[in-house]
Amino acid sequence: MVISPLATQTIISPNKSLRTAIIDGVAVHCMAANATVRAVGNRFLLPSTQASSNYGIGSSGEIGCYVGEEYRSWCTSSRAEDNHIITVEVANDGGAPQWHVSDMAMRSLIRLLVDVCRRNKIKKLVWSSKKSDRVNHRNGCNMFVHRDYANKACPGDYLYSLHPYIAQEVNKMLGVTDVGRFVYKGTDFSPVFDPAFYAARNPDLSVFGGDADLLFTHFWQYGMNERRQAKENFNVIIYRMNYTDLNTAFGDNWFSYYWHYCVCGKNENRIAA
Ligand SMILES: [Zn+2]
Repeated sequence: MVISPLATQTIISPNKSLRTAIIDGVAVHCMAANATVRAVGNRFLLPSTQASSNYGIGSSGEIGCYVGEEYRSWCTSSRAEDNHIITVEVANDGGAPQWHVSDMAMRSLIRLLVDVCRRNKIKKLVWSSKKSDRVNHRNGCNMFVHRDYANKACPGDYLYSLHPYIAQEVNKMLGVTDVGRFVYKGTDFSPVFDPAFYAARNPDLSVFGGDADLLFTHFWQYGMNERRQAKENFNVIIYRMNYTDLNTAFGDNWFSYYWHYCVCGKNENRIAA
């Protein structure tokens, strides 16, 4: 049976069918109760519930498996969708309509989804706020929600609203770089920021141990004002010297030169190295 190594409990449900499609997506559900992995597993043991999920996560972060991944769980009110996704039931430490989820459960959910994606060769999670994108699998959308297929609140407003965050965190851990990881105040600074280059060029930042997110936080908090170089093709001092229009507009506001390059200069093929 194919079970994530992160699952510490295994309570195998009879409510399942053989899977006939490749796993390429996920559906995060809410238990609508602050139930333990064991309690939900016991419910799924009963054939009369006609329900199951591949995994369950409790509020203390424990992960259980109810249906091995080679089987289709009976979870999302759509055989067609359940057939190609991994389903996860998450416990709620708050009630309707938010159905809040604990931070520990959220962390376990993200870890589990990363593991599921890695083992099943899912390159990244793609969410859309539009139902039509989700149910039609448009633009690579591979995150599905129960409320699209049944008159249900599942996964609750809290988890629903955090789907962009879940996708972002999972994709970060998968090493996906095109998810706006280096965004500050709505601007993508990746044209002027490369964490590996930044760490190599600035040995005093070795305290961050190469952590890309910590390096980026340092970059926007201090690095730009300190005129530090964080990408091979962008030296802020050269950029300022090359363009009198920018020098007139920005003066000693060094942050603005980095920002300008990201939002305009790069597209205008301006030179900064
Ligand atoms: Zn559900």
